[in-house]
Amino acid sequence: MPIRLLASEVASQIAAGEVIERPASVVKELMENALDAGAKSISISIAEAGRKLIEVADDGSGIASDELALAVSRHATSKLARADDLFHISTLGFRGEALSSIGSVSRMTITSKVMNSNAGARIKVEGGREGKVESMGAPTGTVVRVEDLFHNVPARLKFLKADVTERRAIDALITRYALAYPNVRFKLSEGSNVTLQTSGDGDRRAILAALYGVDVAKQLLEINFEEEGIRLSGFTSPTALTRSNRKDITFFVNGRWVQDTPLTTALIQAYHTLLMVGRYPLAAIFVEIAPEEVDVNVHPAKAEVRFRNQDKIFGFVQRAVRRGLLAYSPVPQVAPSLWGTHNESSQQVGLDWTIAHDESINNEKQSPINAQSTISHEPHLHLEPVQVSTINQIPLLRLIGQIGATYLVAEGPDGLYLIDQHAAHERVLFEKLMAQHDQKKIPSQSLLTPGVVTLPPQSAKALESQLPVLGQFGFEVEEFGTNTFQVRAMPSLFAGSDPSTALHAIVEDFEEDESPLQNEIEKKLAARVCKRMAVKGGQTLSPEEQRALLSDLERCDSPRTCPYGRPTMIHLSVEMLERQFGRKGAR
Ligand code: ADP
Ligand code: MG
Repeated sequence: MPIRLLASEVASQIAAGEVIERPASVVKELMENALDAGAKSISISIAEAGRKLIEVADDGSGIASDELALAVSRHATSKLARADDLFHISTLGFRGEALSSIGSVSRMTITSKVMNSNAGARIKVEGGREGKVESMGAPTGTVVRVEDLFHNVPARLKFLKADVTERRAIDALITRYALAYPNVRFKLSEGSNVTLQTSGDGDRRAILAALYGVDVAKQLLEINFEEEGIRLSGFTSPTALTRSNRKDITFFVNGRWVQDTPLTTALIQAYHTLLMVGRYPLAAIFVEIAPEEVDVNVHPAKAEVRFRNQDKIFGFVQRAVRRGLLAYSPVPQVAPSLWGTHNESSQQVGLDWTIAHDESINNEKQSPINAQSTISHEPHLHLEPVQVSTINQIPLLRLIGQIGATYLVAEGPDGLYLIDQHAAHERVLFEKLMAQHDQKKIPSQSLLTPGVVTLPPQSAKALESQLPVLGQFGFEVEEFGTNTFQVRAMPSLFAGSDPSTALHAIVEDFEEDESPLQNEIEKKLAARVCKRMAVKGGQTLSPEEQRALLSDLERCDSPRTCPYGRPTMIHLSVEMLERQFGRKGAR
């Protein structure tokens, strides 16, 4: 074939492939345009997961009628003039490619009107061919309607995933942007169903509640940090709240959602020693940095950025998050609201807080500058070991008794402790088992009557793959017919427990994609078994058993959480009791 120039429609279609991969990419580009146009309200309608229809309407600045045709042509942008501008860019778009790309792979209609004009105008683009600009009445702002996406690129259509998956990508995208722009109203609807709506009143926690549920949202810790002109704000999970992967870690840099960023690693490292292996935090973090410090032009869909000084920003994120984590009291305290009064913060966030945090933090929230001066003098290396040890210790506790056959009540030098007997026992068993395992001597006990268990095929397969690991943990398990196993011995630690419960525990929640790291698999397995073997809530314990549990817990390395990161105890400080009884303060 001789060399020839591609027809511009073909060139656009090829270029579109980089930017517009799936319906969610269309939503992203149109949403970014609306935000760039200063919209205060953005409504998105979709049909058939965006294949049939994506319509984005905004109340932004609009496009002048005589510029409409230009807006849809390739390399047409109002956001940048010289290559140099790339390093001062404060808009989300700058490539001038989105509208032309979308127009080349769909039937696109843009209707728009600028503020002080009598009429608006409309243009249609089909498979890259532009129609005439027609004048017509319209409200100020822009509506972009995209129908039959990829109708002329069947190969692309084949690459789309199931509707639920494409739909999920759109939902995830819009909620992320809603979080990043809490002062903009977002609305997503499908037919007459409104599936997501934010108020635009700036309340990020309410949006987090829509994204992750109220329960999770109210536990997230708010972080505000500033150092040398870089600002970080957002939310991250307390150590008790974790995920099995890093999918729920979201980073925005200068209002841009960036994925696969090393910042994610920085955040995870901030949790070093605080989370169980294989568990990840959940976070939504917003970084603001001078535009000249970031290169935004490294990815066609602008999903990645590069930092001029990567180490600096890495350290910054790590410090900010670590500091935020340590500042919040690692033992949850009972909120005053539980005792009939309402504190200010619960009104502010509009959610029912059940965990109150160290007061000093609330003060610091208002003045990040203060926070900065206390932290930046502390060399990073020193920070860690000191703080970790205070997090881990629990004071010597004096047992008072058991309530509800579920909680232990104890007194410490600094107030009252309520201990969840199940979570505490889980932690104790886990640390004992792991310690024995690390020394390669797990005392094992043969069973007089072997336990026989038949499992569903899927679980049987999972168990089979774990038989060698089980041996190292003092279990003697052998196959005993199809999908059936026989337990001949168990770790002495679990003496007296039902062997079949142990077997079920070993395979429950076993995730196929679990990390291939041997030591992670072992930890997860130990955690699963200990959870099942621990005393349950509702089980009456003798005073000796209660005391033994407490002193075992005191000896643990991480007594404050169960192996899954849930708290083992709640602390009511003397100070808080005094406040609640009106012994302290103005009265
Ligand atoms: P880019 O965003 O990279 O500039 P686009 O192809 O997305 O390129 O848009 C081209 C131009 O059309 C933008 O620079 C902007 O001037 C205008 N435009 C697009 N969408 C909107 C909108 N919703 N409101 C106002 N102007 C818009
Ligand atoms: Mg754009």
